[in-house]
Amino acid sequence: MRRGLGLRLAVPAQESTNLSNWMTNSGTWREGDVLVSRDGLNVTQPGENNAQPAARPQRHHHEHQDRPHPEEGETTVSSLQDLESVQVLGRGSSGLVQKVQHNRTGRLFAVKEIQMNVQEQVRTQIMRELRILYKSYNRNVVQCFNAFHSNGVISIVLEYMDGGSLADVVRAVRRIPELYIAVITRQVLHGLWYLHKEVHIIHRDIKPSNLLVNLQGDVKISDFGVSVVLANSMGQCASFVGTCTYMSPERINGGTYGYDCDIWSLGLSLMECALGRFPYQPPGNELGWVNFFDLLHTIVEQPPPTLPEDQFSPEFCDFITACLRKNPKERPSAGELLSHPFLKKYEGQNVNISRLLQTSA
Ligand code: ATP
Ligand code: MG
Repeated sequence: MRRGLGLRLAVPAQESTNLSNWMTNSGTWREGDVLVSRDGLNVTQPGENNAQPAARPQRHHHEHQDRPHPEEGETTVSSLQDLESVQVLGRGSSGLVQKVQHNRTGRLFAVKEIQMNVQEQVRTQIMRELRILYKSYNRNVVQCFNAFHSNGVISIVLEYMDGGSLADVVRAVRRIPELYIAVITRQVLHGLWYLHKEVHIIHRDIKPSNLLVNLQGDVKISDFGVSVVLANSMGQCASFVGTCTYMSPERINGGTYGYDCDIWSLGLSLMECALGRFPYQPPGNELGWVNFFDLLHTIVEQPPPTLPEDQFSPEFCDFITACLRKNPKERPSAGELLSHPFLKKYEGQNVNISRLLQTSA
């Protein structure tokens, strides 16, 4: 049975007393100039008391943007009540992700629910990240259309990606062929270039389950900001473990880190797509890492993994080696990687990643 999403929102298990600091009487979450209520996300303009709809980002095409966006028309979702639940797509550490349909336009979206019964510090950060997420726009970054608050849950309305994640693709086809990986890599690098150079944020959680694909063959980065804040708050142990395994050595060490930590995670994620398994293999145990801390120790202390040269081109092997340099200063930037010989080698060959899913079905 399809029901309005607004009716399905869960009430948080524990409502802490300091929730009242955050909510106005009308049930609005407020942090600085950002307001989230059942009417959506708003940003207060300087000098005004009334909330205004947040300014949408400029749709310009930067130097790495090689194709125009197919949906230049503005899409608005003004109420959760306009969205009908179609199916549950999955459950991550922050909560449920549902596929929904807009009842007037028929357009599909994904709605990610986030329980806000977390520490106050975490909430502050989530609200800041929500603002960045809402203002960001790039063809290779999953778009956020709006965010609503109701009963201590924030529902983020996202672009629906009908091919699932690269983790799903790897599960379905086991190994992704090198040509397809080149096409994926180029798109993810465009998205990363945008996040690093235009939005000035580090993603911090690049991994196969956060790289989503659609049937047009687009690959887009999801879950920057809000999800990372939650994962790093370590309230959810499983998520912390899931995120940590793609973490660069300097992050595991607890030192300072920069944009280059995303390049490490990208290298490890692409290597996993090529091999069909997590690149670090436990010594003498093919089944998986028994001790999570042994894995972290290995990432920090041992040389990085490399692709077997007899199975992959020298260009691809070199690309992975460049991403997985243990010294972050030696890793190339997203912009530099866009002109790496690995991408040059497959330039002009535009295969559709979703074709892999069709052939495996
Ligand atoms: P983690 O919580 O550790 O980040 P995760 O990335 O799998 O793990 P979520 O991001 O909550 O968790 O996603 C849960 C599921 O929903 C995933 O299987 C993902 O493929 C799917 N999903 C998330 N966002 C979208 C989207 N915009 N379109 C389609 N499917 C999505
Ligand atoms: Mg995710």
